Amino acid sequence: MQNKLSFGVIGNPIAHSKSPLIHNLWFKEFNLNYEYKAYLEENTSLKHRVASLKGANITVPFKEEVLKYADIYSEEVAIIKAANVVVNDKGVIKAYNTDFYGFIKALQKYDFQKVLLLGAGGAARACAYALIKNNIDFTVFNRSKKNDFICKVENKLCDFNFDVVVNCTSSSLLGQLPCSYELLNKLKTKIKIAYDLVYTKSVFLEYFEDAIKIDGKLMLLYQAALAAQYFYNIKISDELIKKSEQIIF
Ligand code: NDP
Repeated sequence: MQNKLSFGVIGNPIAHSKSPLIHNLWFKEFNLNYEYKAYLEENTSLKHRVASLKGANITVPFKEEVLKYADIYSEEVAIIKAANVVVNDKGVIKAYNTDFYGFIKALQKYDFQKVLLLGAGGAARACAYALIKNNIDFTVFNRSKKNDFICKVENKLCDFNFDVVVNCTSSSLLGQLPCSYELLNKLKTKIKIAYDLVYTKSVFLEYFEDAIKIDGKLMLLYQAALAAQYFYNIKISDELIKKSEQIIF
């Protein structure tokens, strides 16, 4: 009997991950006899786990660490310097980033001009990559200036003429705002769209009471959709994304 193809999400912590629900739902939808599980990993076992699966999503804290074990990087991984997808192609580990795609797809139905990204970690770099690829003007603001990326992009806010603000920090996971009230108040009058990458409660989104609010659910589903193309060569339609959002969240 042929072994089932095994896929999974690797991280630490991992119990909260929705990725197994998403991919197992799509296996049912497409009648695929594969398995997709969550793997709680330590740094020391990451290499072995990656090699043991046909494909994996990589999440916190391994998106940079996993690059050490990749044989080939996609163009976006080379620029973003973080991968959230690896594919094991007959022993050759290929690293991809699908977060950038998920981020921009969640904004696809809106018109906007200028974006402020708060944060400068792996997720912010993926968002910046998507904005550059789509020729959208943006600025990055991070609480600290120690970060290499922020120095290369921008290190101070010159204007407050933004119509979209994206919280790319992990502040909402701590129930905190990503920046000062002073900054938020300056932004508030012009902001049309407030976007937080987390898909749990966000005090940041609550603050922008009159704006269109987007959380991280669609980003998660669309990044999974591009991962599904790399893993199983299937295309996930916008209709299936909508249906999955209703079932999973
Ligand atoms: P990183 O750890 O790489 O970066 C964290 C960033 O958040 C840094 O810029 C850090 O600033 C900043 N930060 C952390 N805590 C605070 C705080 N209390 N106030 C202000 N800034 C803070 O994380 P990632 O970039 O990988 O992820 C960021 C968030 O995006 C996470 O919440 C993650 O869950 C979410 N995400 C969601 C996805 C989705 O599909 N919906 C996909 C990917 C990420 P400093 O540099 O000063 O330390």
